[in-house]
Amino acid sequence: MPVVEKARRRSRQTFGLPSEPLRDPLGYPCKLCVHACRIPQGGVGFCGLPPGGREKARVSWYHDPLPTNCVADFVCPGGTGAGFPRWAHRAGPEHGYQNLAVFYEACNFDCLYCQNWHYRVDGPQRTPLPPEDLVEAVTPRTSCICFFGGDPTPQLPHALRAAELSLEANKQRILRICFETNGSMNRRLLARMVELSLASGGVIKFDLKAWNPQVHFALTGAPNDRTLENFAWVAERFTLRPEVPLLVASILLVPGYVDVEEIRPLAQFIANLNPQIPLSLLAFHPHCLMDDLPCTSAAHMERCVRAAEEAGLLRVHVGNRHLLWPGDYEE
Ligand code: SF4
Ligand code: SF4
Repeated sequence: MPVVEKARRRSRQTFGLPSEPLRDPLGYPCKLCVHACRIPQGGVGFCGLPPGGREKARVSWYHDPLPTNCVADFVCPGGTGAGFPRWAHRAGPEHGYQNLAVFYEACNFDCLYCQNWHYRVDGPQRTPLPPEDLVEAVTPRTSCICFFGGDPTPQLPHALRAAELSLEANKQRILRICFETNGSMNRRLLARMVELSLASGGVIKFDLKAWNPQVHFALTGAPNDRTLENFAWVAERFTLRPEVPLLVASILLVPGYVDVEEIRPLAQFIANLNPQIPLSLLAFHPHCLMDDLPCTSAAHMERCVRAAEEAGLLRVHVGNRHLLWPGDYEE
């Protein structure tokens, strides 16, 4: 833990962020996520955001032609035509349509290997925008909106409002609402995410970082109990819309940290909830403070796929296959 703490302090100082969630008894209580910060006057939360309702957000967006490298593309309407014709324009990949990718430029986790760490530099320079601006970005060719980041969690009130307004302005046509998240939000907000995704044919993608709480804390600076509880809560609603999976899990195979010892219990946890929940195992690429690690090896991936299937999962997918290193660290 001293090594982890030193790395985390370095990570946080580099980006001018508090090294741990602040707990000022007289501070502003933020209930948006697992950290439950109490932000002192003039301070910021663990996510780097000032106190407040988050009606405006540090956010940017772009149009991504479908099918795209979305983590759920192997099972979702945009990537496969699942749920056609109700939830997809085509019986296969939705060529000719676009995903509106909405990037929230803040995060309540501190992954030392963050693949999108640039938001930590860009985010504070953004002028916060109202949800109405995002609605204007939806075009007749937009068939899904994916709220990701960073993570949408610290700015969820904005994402939910933007989703509601977008659906309101685009009634009677396909517009799926999807989220990609670390899953550590407060339950009331999660419930609204589920309602919007269920009603629109969208998918909620949980990025599960690790099973062991200490490994999870070392990698992310956050506990994993809320994420796992929230995942189980969404899984209970999985059968409400069988044609398009409401819930998809992804796990990044960080060499030396997220190996078979982690995948086995995570996969068992998911399989016990419902073996039909799709799981994408993602290959790691070195970034941020963990840029001295190798890419995930093909052998590491193979071992983890086997472990997930042996745990009973029926839909295991390999993502970022092009990043796999064709060897084995153990050789
Ligand atoms: S959203 Fe940010 S300020 Fe609010 S509890 Fe989470 S980390 Fe703290
Ligand atoms: S945003 Fe949703 S529907 Fe669109 S490609 Fe991603 S998971 Fe599929």
